[in-house]
Amino acid sequence: MAYKFKAEQATTVLNEITYQVGRTGAITPVANLEPVLLAGTTVKRASLHNADQIAKLDVRVGDTVFVEKGGEIIPKIIGVDFTKRSVDSLPTEYITHCPECGTELIRKEGEAQHFCPNDTGCPTQITGRIQHFISRKAMDIEGMGSETVELLFKEGLISDYADLYTLTKEQVIPLERMAEKSAENLVNGVAASKAIPFERVLFALGIRYVGETVAKKLAKAYKNIDALMIASHEELIAVDEIGERIADSVIKFFSEPTNLEIVERLRSYGLQFSLSEEQLENQTDKLKGQTFVVSGVFETISRNDLKKLIEDNGGKVASSISSKTSFVVAGDNMGPSKKTKAESLGIPIISEQEFMEKL
Ligand SMILES: [Zn+2]
Repeated sequence: MAYKFKAEQATTVLNEITYQVGRTGAITPVANLEPVLLAGTTVKRASLHNADQIAKLDVRVGDTVFVEKGGEIIPKIIGVDFTKRSVDSLPTEYITHCPECGTELIRKEGEAQHFCPNDTGCPTQITGRIQHFISRKAMDIEGMGSETVELLFKEGLISDYADLYTLTKEQVIPLERMAEKSAENLVNGVAASKAIPFERVLFALGIRYVGETVAKKLAKAYKNIDALMIASHEELIAVDEIGERIADSVIKFFSEPTNLEIVERLRSYGLQFSLSEEQLENQTDKLKGQTFVVSGVFETISRNDLKKLIEDNGGKVASSISSKTSFVVAGDNMGPSKKTKAESLGIPIISEQEFMEKL
């Protein structure tokens, strides 16, 4: 049982609804509020999530709204004080066109979010993709921030992330707030990113639904981008934790000529599009098709290292025993319920030494 603090609430006036465009074209409505003190901070903006949420709350400009701040950083509007609504208030009409590029928005069957379909021409989507590409968990380009990306784009020096690799110091120096030193840092930072490993390059490409973890799984399963590019839907969903949605998105990304062209350009600039020798060296398919459950404390290896060893050799690690389990690797103090379950299902229990011999 756990006690939780009730989220703090406040009331304020909704001044305006604006719309943000994300790097994938997703539109997020944002409530701009009369500043109000809530849970120790001044709140001026709150998320409205999507058109359904606005309709559900029947929230309108000029309304007095209840704002709540739970565990999240961004506060949300949880309701409207209808007693304070003016008689001439009109229902909110959701935008029909992209606020950044004017393209008509689309909404796919079963999706809550509206999208700007102009992914190659919508400026916010273009800079958003480049900003994602240079971010710390992706290519981690030193000497470059989000504002620099916007500036470089505005000045016509870059129009996609591959353009970063042809930037010269001479092009960058004349820009606002750029000195010789910072221009040099920027160009060096871009050059240094060529050593970033394949799985992070894959994440940096910004394929929808391919986050850090998925990128790692795909890099490991396919080992290089050429194999991934030609992977079929069936092959993709056969990879651990890759579902229909991700498979469709990967196939769509690599079916677009502009994306293929960008990948080829990046390759020609020397980015990593396959796992390194070192990463490949310790990987085999020895345990392919086998699922392991690891339980207890081990003598010569930590539990996490043991799991990694299984995965590096093509095996799968599961957290609970089922009829699909091939082996239980048991250390000291294996859980008694796990032992009973393995025995009742007739799943072989092997020791750490037996596992190592098997490998
Ligand atoms: Zn747009």
